[in-house]
Amino acid sequence: MLILDIIILMTKSAVITGISGQAGSYLAELLLNKGYKVYGMKRRSSSLNTQRIDHIFENKNLELVYGDLSDQSSIDNLIINTKPDLFFNMAAMSHVRVSFDIPNYTMDVTGTGVVRILESLRKNSPDTHFLQASSSEMFGGMNEVQDEETKFHPRSPYAVAKAAAYYMVVNYREAYNMHVSNAICFNYESPRRGETFVSRKITRAATRIKLGLQDKLYMGNVHAKRDWSHAKDTVDAMFKIATAPTACDYVVSSDENYSIEQFLDKAFSKVGLNYKDYLEFDEKYLRPTEVDNLLGNSSKIRKALGWAPKYTFDALVDEMIESDLELAGHELLIKNNKK
Ligand code: NAP
Ligand code: GDP
Repeated sequence: MLILDIIILMTKSAVITGISGQAGSYLAELLLNKGYKVYGMKRRSSSLNTQRIDHIFENKNLELVYGDLSDQSSIDNLIINTKPDLFFNMAAMSHVRVSFDIPNYTMDVTGTGVVRILESLRKNSPDTHFLQASSSEMFGGMNEVQDEETKFHPRSPYAVAKAAAYYMVVNYREAYNMHVSNAICFNYESPRRGETFVSRKITRAATRIKLGLQDKLYMGNVHAKRDWSHAKDTVDAMFKIATAPTACDYVVSSDENYSIEQFLDKAFSKVGLNYKDYLEFDEKYLRPTEVDNLLGNSSKIRKALGWAPKYTFDALVDEMIESDLELAGHELLIKNNKK
């Protein structure tokens, strides 16, 4: 056997669905740094949307494969061809507000998509360790603090789909003894967060307003509270869960929460502005049912797997503002060059 063949056989491999998304991109970096061969499932789009992974595109250990969670054959082919050591499901229709507009699609991709993966793993690669990106939205914010024992009360099509997927993972673990786990993630953010989620919408607005590119910020309910982490800390927890000796479900959270108003205040203060001078209410950003309060208790993963977040809330907002200031600077340059 050639040395190259032996190296290939020894190299561990991982599949990431949703590799073009926020978490998928950080997870890809983490796994490549640890020496994994990474297969990323990418869905077809009419224009390029690989900005979050452009910087690792040339890495010889990264391979992108077309697929879609609504398409069983693409999932089967990916699993049969790769038989990965680890499988991270980061793909989803991930926007709570939008899930009220497209509930069928959300249920199909965010919910049934997970059944498609689990069934394929059971038949084709039962030893693969599987990690599902579950969501704190499943709790619905009814309790003051939420942990692994808290009852679910999903309050959006997104949350219902995530709860269905959560229970499927538990069932496959119990029924087939597979290493499949849920990371019950509270909100996680970063400079790579989609621009229609509240954190990024705020940091984009604060920095664009600062540079004269925007006048106002239109928002919905700013009284809701969220438990925010940095996406890098969250994917670190996901890796620990997937590689733990025993499969289990864990809450992943910072264990602190802040209102949207507090996020606004912090972000605008960092660029020397008062958010109250720019904030306007628009009812189109309200949800038919809101989740008012999310606050995690992550003591289980901290104790069992030694995980702890590295970022504080302040450091998270700092990094997002810094990155969006740079982005707004480029925008301004382009605008001025056009004049
Ligand atoms: P994101 O940035 O919205 O990324 C979602 C990814 O899923 C994108 O790569 C997207 O592809 C892909 N995708 C969407 N529909 C698909 C389909 N039908 N087939 C295949 N891929 C599809 O989300 P994120 O913030 O990285 O979150 C990752 C996961 O964690 C999601 O499952 C989300 O629901 C869950 N989660 C997130 C949070 C949070 O606060 N961020 C909290 C709890 C749980 P395109 O690039 O083509 O759109
Ligand atoms: P979610 O926690 O997964 O729904 O993440 P989001 O970032 O989309 O929303 C967080 C909270 O911000 C929710 O309580 C929203 O109702 C609230 N919010 C208020 N105004 C806005 C807005 O303009 N856009 C978004 N996305 N959320 C908003």
